[in-house]
Amino acid sequence: MINHEYSRIISLSFPPDTSGQPMMYNLAKLFDLTFNILQANINPRREGHMILELSGTRERYQRGVTYLQEQGIRVTPAANQISRNEDSCMHCGLCTSLCPSKALHLNHETRRVDFDQNKCTACNMCVTICPVRAMTVEIDPLTW
Ligand code: SF4
Ligand code: SF4
Repeated sequence: MINHEYSRIISLSFPPDTSGQPMMYNLAKLFDLTFNILQANINPRREGHMILELSGTRERYQRGVTYLQEQGIRVTPAANQISRNEDSCMHCGLCTSLCPSKALHLNHETRRVDFDQNKCTACNMCVTICPVRAMTVEIDPLTW
């Protein structure tokens, strides 16, 4: 059977009593998943947040996410946290030079800026630079 690689960028919110536990180690050890932490803000006795790319087979990925949820961690796709106001965006391209994951990129055929939500890591860079405030992020990393 072929095990296709599956990868998603997800946002984790840790309640205060789970922060500091070796969840990431367990994801690798128990479910053979690999992860790349893109943002993290974990403080003892406070809710913690993390954005990471989690990869493995689809079945292991789903088991790993279920494991996290069973530990009381809220798991949501990072892409859910960012949106673009299509009416406001004037396709100036300013954000494409900053976007680290190329979720925002210039479409050379249409000469417009495409937004691929699935690649977004919710880093907030485009929100800061957009002159018309077309990009919005639900969680502001500065307030984590
Ligand atoms: S900087 Fe703002 S207006 Fe310009 S392309 Fe990006 S989202 Fe659109
Ligand atoms: S928040 Fe904006 S700059 Fe950051 S990855 Fe997502 S689209 Fe790109």
